[in-house]
Amino acid sequence: MTDWQELESKYMMTTYKRLPVTFVRGQGSRLWDDAGQEYLDFFGGHVVVSLGHCHPEVVAALTEQAGTLMHYSNIVYTTPQIELARLLVENSCLDRAFFCNSGAEANEAAIKLARKWAKEHRDGAYEVICAENAFHGRTLATVTASGTERYKAPFTPLPIGFVHVPFNDAEAIRRATTEAACAVLLEPIQGEGGIVVPDDDYLRQVRAWCDKQNLLLILDEVQTGIGRTGALFAYQHYGIEPDIITLAKGLGSGFPIGAVLAKEHCAVFVPGDHGTTYGGNPLATRVAHTVVKYIVDNDLSAQVAAKGNRLGRKLLQFEDRFDFVKAVRGKGLLWAVEFNQEMAEEVTLACLKERLVVNNVRPNTLRLSPALIISEEELDEGLAKLDKVFAMLSA
Ligand SMILES: *Cc1c(COP(=O)(O)O)cnc(C)c1O
Repeated sequence: MTDWQELESKYMMTTYKRLPVTFVRGQGSRLWDDAGQEYLDFFGGHVVVSLGHCHPEVVAALTEQAGTLMHYSNIVYTTPQIELARLLVENSCLDRAFFCNSGAEANEAAIKLARKWAKEHRDGAYEVICAENAFHGRTLATVTASGTERYKAPFTPLPIGFVHVPFNDAEAIRRATTEAACAVLLEPIQGEGGIVVPDDDYLRQVRAWCDKQNLLLILDEVQTGIGRTGALFAYQHYGIEPDIITLAKGLGSGFPIGAVLAKEHCAVFVPGDHGTTYGGNPLATRVAHTVVKYIVDNDLSAQVAAKGNRLGRKLLQFEDRFDFVKAVRGKGLLWAVEFNQEMAEEVTLACLKERLVVNNVRPNTLRLSPALIISEEELDEGLAKLDKVFAMLSA
């Protein structure tokens, strides 16, 4: 049998620390490795496969579009991107869409949009107020906007124009606001930071401040968007309307795509300002249209909310039962189990042995993000495996 892990170490850049498993096939919430072993997926390849692996409607749309028109550039009109834009706009508070290929690119575009808007509406202000512990991507601008110093240090000098304040502290944003500020950029729930859920009135306070100061509120919904938290977009939980949101991950359920949605008043790009060769191509946007339409038509968000409540209730029991479980938090199907020690990698590897895929999002925090279509039986099956691993580790 081919030793893929050996070949990887020979031929690929050493960019990733990988789990010792090679997946070759997926179906729904199940995965199979190169030895034919079956796994239950509670991670979704970084919170991406919203409809599970190889969802039949997604596969049908992808193969049909692949045989019809895979790509043409944005120098002409193509139809799937217009249909996707309409679907996203009609189901959100935003008015216009721009498509790209990833979350980082979506945030990069949102930052450029905010800067251009500020040239016209805020006297050339350019500074973006971001949160500590945030994650917005790995391009130079988005890694600068992120709150993790370790990701930035090797790549200095970094672009200017980003300041950081503690998350879930609206007063800190007020204090950090100067003439130079043009926007506030936040994840509604911090994902890579360890599923940090803010207080219920945080975003309302931030929105009020942005209104008062003429700042744009940009929400990075790359991880929280498209049904993940039990609403189509996480901002909908908090009774506010952002000026701009960014999407990726769950939008394509495995096919690479990113999007920026903006209100009319700040959708200020004109021809030549921004662009991408692949962004919005027929294949990617046809797939994403199928994903979003499936979620909307089947009201998957409501199902996610119900499944999430149930999952959360059961996870909370671990808090009482195991000394090393410090806190459980989350929303919808995006949950974290925080430990009182750095044992998340050990738990992840032990779960893998039990054929359950989870993610050590932080050294002391486990992330659970199963597909939106996961069944209650599969949720219980995963919880039983996690229970077994925790019991083993506490013995
Ligand atoms: C994953 C993620 C990104 C980056 O997306 P890429 O597609 O990896 O560029 C940005 N923001 C948030 C909140 C994310 O979770």
